[in-house]
Amino acid sequence: MNSGVEKVNLLGLSRARMEAFFESLGEKRFRASQVIQWIHQRGVDNFDEMTNVSKVLREKLAEVAEIRAPEVVYHNISQDGTRKWVMQMSAGNSVETVLIPDGQRATLCVSSQIGCSLDCTFCSTGKRGFNRNLSAAEIIGQVWVAMKSFMPYDRNKERPITNVVMMGMGEPLLNFDNVVDAMSLMMDDWAYSISKRRVTLSTAGVVPALDRLGDITDVSLAISLHAPNDELRDTLVPLNRKYPIAELLAATRRYLDKLADKRKVTIEYTLIDGVNDKPEHARQLVKLLRNVPCKINLIPFNPFAESTFQRPSMERVRAFQAILSHAGYVGTIRTPRGDDIDAACGQLVGQFEDRTRRSQKYIAVQQVG
Ligand code: SAH
Repeated sequence: MNSGVEKVNLLGLSRARMEAFFESLGEKRFRASQVIQWIHQRGVDNFDEMTNVSKVLREKLAEVAEIRAPEVVYHNISQDGTRKWVMQMSAGNSVETVLIPDGQRATLCVSSQIGCSLDCTFCSTGKRGFNRNLSAAEIIGQVWVAMKSFMPYDRNKERPITNVVMMGMGEPLLNFDNVVDAMSLMMDDWAYSISKRRVTLSTAGVVPALDRLGDITDVSLAISLHAPNDELRDTLVPLNRKYPIAELLAATRRYLDKLADKRKVTIEYTLIDGVNDKPEHARQLVKLLRNVPCKINLIPFNPFAESTFQRPSMERVRAFQAILSHAGYVGTIRTPRGDDIDAACGQLVGQFEDRTRRSQKYIAVQQVG
């Protein structure tokens, strides 16, 4: 019996950590690839199923380790194919994970923290405060759960998840090590084997961490800009007072320069009615980004209860976009998805927790697919 010592959750171990783990057991390093493949490609969470691992080693593993995934407390599919999960990580701590299909692509939006400390004024996650960082197992566990809901699938024919964006709850650069470990599994050939171009870290701009990131990985980058000048950005993204726009864009260029291939950064810009969506803002944005290889993602604001902001009309959104495209920028408009199964991004957890609190009723996990 294991004498009360906490078992290692193998779900969150990157290749390097898994190899170190097997070495610590006196085993060969190649066991790491085998076990990573069982866990992440075959969705196995039980050592008995790992048939190319000897019975003796399986028993040893079961004693000291476990494969523990987040608990799905809510799962639904919207009319447009968007899937949403609420995953409970520990008592009272849930996050939201969303899969957005789009033609040949399916993008999984993954959370990195329970809550968020940045308190951007337009974001519902910030209003709930910061609780704690997710472990690497809890981050990659979101991919594991989402992928498993498609199994069994033929890996060669079907790619149920083609892209991952770290755009769920939390600021990924403030949970650096766990996010980096989880992303390394997303890209690992023995795990999810997603191209580095299709794994995107989104940040509000923690400049020193962004520089560190560029030294150790080469995922794609999205910057949550939301304003074309410091005065306005200070009010929307409080972190801007610490790392203003010029510093953030300089760090962004340094990051792109470190990449071996030519890539653009995605600039995210949430359009809020009458606040940052005027033609003069679009013109300032064009000037500001002149030397930054980028594409711009325009996101019409998703209203939520505690906020006084409004979503601009489609006319205003298009007018903003027209100024960008006239200046030669690719400016895509992110259309709201999955609206029929819940409200805006980041609110599902809130609704879910409020509802459980009110009724204290058991909510059945919906089996889908
Ligand atoms: N902290 C990271 C990751 C969180 S995702 C970051 O700031 O990038 C952040 C993204 O969620 C923002 O770029 C914005 O695109 C989106 N977002 C948050 N609240 C929103 C809202 N109410 N309406 C529309 N988009 C929102």
